[in-house]
Amino acid sequence: MQVPAQFQYEKATSVEHALGLLGKYGPESRVVAGGHSLIPMMKLRLAQPQALIDINEVEELTRISVEEHMLRIGAMVRHAELLSSAVAGEHFPIFHDAEKLIADPVVRNRGTIGGSLCQADPSEDLSAVFAAIRGEAVIQGGEGQRVVPIREFFTGPYETVVADGELLVAVRVPIRSSASAYQKVERRAGDWAVAAAGAELRLDGDTVAEAGIGLTAVGAANFHVPEAEEFLVGGPATAERFARAGEIAAEHCQPVADQRGPVDYKRHLAATLTARALGAALARWHGRHQEA
Ligand SMILES: Cc1cc2nc3c(=O)[nH]c(=O)nc-3n(C[C@H](O)[C@H](O)[C@H](O)COP(=O)(O)OP(=O)(O)OC[C@H]3O[C@@H](n4cnc5c(N)ncnc54)[C@H](O)[C@@H]3O)c2cc1C
Repeated sequence: MQVPAQFQYEKATSVEHALGLLGKYGPESRVVAGGHSLIPMMKLRLAQPQALIDINEVEELTRISVEEHMLRIGAMVRHAELLSSAVAGEHFPIFHDAEKLIADPVVRNRGTIGGSLCQADPSEDLSAVFAAIRGEAVIQGGEGQRVVPIREFFTGPYETVVADGELLVAVRVPIRSSASAYQKVERRAGDWAVAAAGAELRLDGDTVAEAGIGLTAVGAANFHVPEAEEFLVGGPATAERFARAGEIAAEHCQPVADQRGPVDYKRHLAATLTARALGAALARWHGRHQEA
């Protein structure tokens, strides 16, 4: 049986309380959200925090809301809640595309948006989603709040800009006229991605006015590919150009071979899934504008 090392356990009742407890226990403390990543790591002794600050009862972190033209998703929103959120799906259908494919209902019922981003697994789906739609992390510490673009949130595999004594409190996304989609290849239902791509498009007539491309599991720096986005902007939204954007995205990835597949296969998927996600986003854009 795998058993974690001994640790102190405290239940926070508010963000202020959680920050106070993080200050009290210092750098050897960790917050626990869904616990799906942290607890197995503790059992394997890959993580040995001296104190766990449980934020599951911090009500203010659990809401999905629209505030000042921003969709705001609290850090303790569970995957299942994002999947069933009408307001999130209406503005950014990419959330529902991705959440349907993240793990299984057991994990989705417990795992959180904040925990997923702070775990910073290189195969994490929501990192690519938020990179594609240019989300912003709201981080709170003793000195107050700071806002960091998700594209600058990750400092390496399993590392983020959230410092000791800080908490990710929410992720927000400016609401604008756009269409988005997510495409993933997994070895079996509920598995981590072999590769996955998210795309967001805004058109001006037939011309791409804005493009966002997020990729996961293929070693894209900070989960996005600016070179492919720059290629698309200003040109027509055609299948040929989406295929070329996919090739550019694949060229700028650094996949590694592992049990999920060899490098060439992952690079091929990066190209194909990018083009498919762009095509799906375009279909949604046209669908919306024909309805209007
Ligand atoms: C079987 C299985 C399959 C999975 N499949 C997928 C998949 O297909 N795609 C995918 O994207 N993910 C997948 N996951 C990951 C899953 O989505 C979890 O959400 C993820 O493990 C972490 O979320 P959590 O809430 O459990 O975080 P926790 O395990 O509680 O925390 C993870 C880390 O984040 C820190 N943390 C948590 N919340 C905060 C916060 N608000 N501020 C600062 N630090 C914080 C913790 O201290 C810890 O270091 C899978 C997980 C499992 C167990």
